[in-house]
This record gives sequence, structure tokens and C-alpha cells, in this order.
Amino acid sequence: MTATPLNTTKSQEIFTAAQTLMPGGVSSPVRAFKSVGGQPIVFDRVKGAYIWDVDGNQYIDYVGTWGPAICGHAHPDVIQALHESLDKGTSFGAPCAQENILADMVINAVPSIEMVRFVNSGTEACMSVLRLMRAFTGREKIIKFEGCYHGHADMFLVKAGSGVATLGLPDSPGVPKSTTTNTLTAPYNDLEAVKKLFNDNPDEIAGVILEPVVGNSGFIPPDAGFLEGLRLLTQDHGALLVFDEVMTGFRISYGGAQAKFGVTPDLTTLGKVIGGGLPVGAYGGSKEIMSLVAPAGPMYQAGTLSGNPLAMTAGIKTLDILNKEGQYDVLEKITKKLIDGLLAIAKETGHEACGGSISAMFGFFFTAGPVHNFSDAKQSDTAKFGHFHRGMLERGIYLAPSQFEAGFTSLAHTEADIDKTLAAAREVMSSL
Ligand SMILES: *Cc1c(COP(=O)(O)O)cnc(C)c1O
Repeated sequence: MTATPLNTTKSQEIFTAAQTLMPGGVSSPVRAFKSVGGQPIVFDRVKGAYIWDVDGNQYIDYVGTWGPAICGHAHPDVIQALHESLDKGTSFGAPCAQENILADMVINAVPSIEMVRFVNSGTEACMSVLRLMRAFTGREKIIKFEGCYHGHADMFLVKAGSGVATLGLPDSPGVPKSTTTNTLTAPYNDLEAVKKLFNDNPDEIAGVILEPVVGNSGFIPPDAGFLEGLRLLTQDHGALLVFDEVMTGFRISYGGAQAKFGVTPDLTTLGKVIGGGLPVGAYGGSKEIMSLVAPAGPMYQAGTLSGNPLAMTAGIKTLDILNKEGQYDVLEKITKKLIDGLLAIAKETGHEACGGSISAMFGFFFTAGPVHNFSDAKQSDTAKFGHFHRGMLERGIYLAPSQFEAGFTSLAHTEADIDKTLAAAREVMSSL
């Protein structure tokens, strides 16, 4: 378990070439390791709880392709179903029966959803739901929270959490001011701030969108009463409540955060897990609201590859596995063992740290905490996290390369994997 200097020769070669071909050498910013230092490793294959890089190193994976791999990578049931579907072609651009099956599963699982529209990513789901919020209410302003990420559409690139925070960009050039003037922001877990925004903008706010458990500024759960308070406030002001469950959907419980906390929003966005590793997003809500979406109604939204049979198949198989008795108890137990262990080791080795988990989602910060919002999260010692990340990587543990990302476990993670991870953490934290 001692840190062998990683041989990453091939990774370095590939990434060096990638930097001449693609901006920053990556297809999505956080993959570039900017906030933890060093070079990213280049993957060759994934299976269960493990990943292998192009130099043959094996790691226990706590990123799970940023959420989708909740059953473990390349689950045999998913792969087999995909093979069968693949033989029939990849995309029809026409209805397929698999859409009904996945839609039915989503509608049965998620309390707020009576009708659903499939798209290709979480970003697409969130930008579409925003249009729908505005179409339904006839109002233009929305409230989002500092540190919550809802994809990279212009209107949401205001105080948008991890990816943006990690690069130190408060905002992004290229986003016209006129696009974000209708985006109001409040600190997470701050009901008073939301009340004030409603009072200052009477009859102008279409709705409130949030991550019901934050994962994009690190792991931050809602305070008791926060979700309930938002439900009442939005109702009182004729505004919609939207849970962005792209990360939490089918991860913190089969019905997402809304089932876990018993607060039902008007609209919900999904992604990540429901695609089982293929590109899928979705948004849904009551029949009344969803009937505004084209072609049932006038709100336009479309997609060439939306609802394609391969992606639907991966989603169906993934949800099938998750819906078996007791799966979330398994996830809860293994994840709690991990986070409790990490926090205990931090304490023993003299590091200030706080954190937590819900089911298969966890996170910790190198700060005494408590962390209720993004400002609190930013008190973390990010330089220390960078060293911790590197030390863990050298011991075969792959963590998200940013202090401001949640971690993910899967049904494939074993107690032995957790023990190994904690042994590595003890070594690394002792040396920090
Ligand atoms: C990942 C994420 C998104 C964006 O999804 P993509 O598929 O990356 O476009 C939106 N909202 C939340 C809460 C997310 O975690």
C-alpha cells in the first residue's frame, strides 16, 4: 500500500498530445486536474468499482463517471442488454418502445413526475426546464443558489459551483449580461434571502431551482426545514419549485431527494444515473405543466438523438438493478463506513475536517465546518486537498480532482475496498 511512484508515461504522452488538439486537453474542464495539480490520468477501461489507466495501474474509483456508474462500471446486465440493442441499430429518430419503459419507470419512481421528456444531458434538461418554468408562469426571473450547478447554459452561469469555482471564474465571458439579469441568487440554506427576493420582485419570479442536496460545491445537505420552506414560499408567490436531481435522482434514493425528504417540487430534472453511462437527461412534472411542451403544447424543445434505444436500454437496466430490494441500504452502509472512517482518520491525524453522506453520495471538506453553503465550503484548505488527492492517487484511490465535488460509491464497492481506501487515507493524512 505504500506509495509507489506511479508510472504514468503513457498517460502523460496522450495528455500532452491532447493539449494540442483540444482546449486544455479535455472534453470537460474538471477532468484536467487544474485544482489538484499534476496531470490527469488517461483511462483504458472500467469494471465494477475499478478503473485501469493506459499504463496498467488499477484504482478504486469514487467518481463513477460523475454519477452514472451507481451499479458499478460495465455491469454485466447493462452490457448484455446494450449488445442486444446495438445489433438492432443505434438511433431511430423515431419512437421506440424502450422510451415507454423508461418513462414508466421514472414516473413510478419520482413523486413529482407524471409525464417526462427525454433529452441527452443534464445541461439540456435544465435549460429546457427553465424555458418551461417561464412558459408556464409567464414570468422571466428565476432564483438559483450560490454554488449550485445546473449545467452550462448561459442563464445558469452565475455562481455556478465546482467547475467554474475551481477555475476561479466567478462567471464566464461570452455570457451576455442581458441573459443573466433575470437570474437572482441566494446563499444555499438561507430562506430569509429567498423571502427577500420574492418580496423585492413581486409577481416576477417564475420559480426557484436548486440541487436538493448540493453536490457541485462539495456535498452540502439541506438544513431541516429548508426544502419545506421553499415549497411554501413558491406556492405563496405563484412560482414553481424545481429540483435539479441530475445528480441526486436515483442516487440518494430510488425516488431521489424528493422521496427521501418528502417534499414534492413542481418540476424535476434528471440525468447521470438514468442513462446508466450513456447520454440521457430528462425533465418532468405534472401533466398540466408538461402538456405545454411541443408537440402537445407551444413550448418548443427537440433533440435528434433524444430517447434513442441504446441510451434508453442502459437506463432501463440500471434502474432495474437499483429497484431490487435493499440496494439503497447496501449503498448507505458502505458509504457511511467510508465517510465515518475518513473523518475519524482526519481527527486522529490532526486535520480539521467535516463531511457526510446520504446513500451513495458523500463528501468532506478540509475545514472544521459546519458547511451550510458555498461560502462555508470555500473555507476549505484546497492546497491540502490537492496533496491529499495526489497521495491517494499514488495509492490506487481515484477521487474527484476537486475539493468542491461530491464523491460517489456504487453497488460494486466492497467492505474490502473501503478498508483499503481508509488505510491509504491514514497514510496520506499522517504525512500531510
Ligand atoms: C452534472 C449536473 C448537471 C449537468 O449535467 P450534464 O449531463 O453534465 O450536462 C446539471 N445539474 C446537476 C445538479 C448536475 O450534477
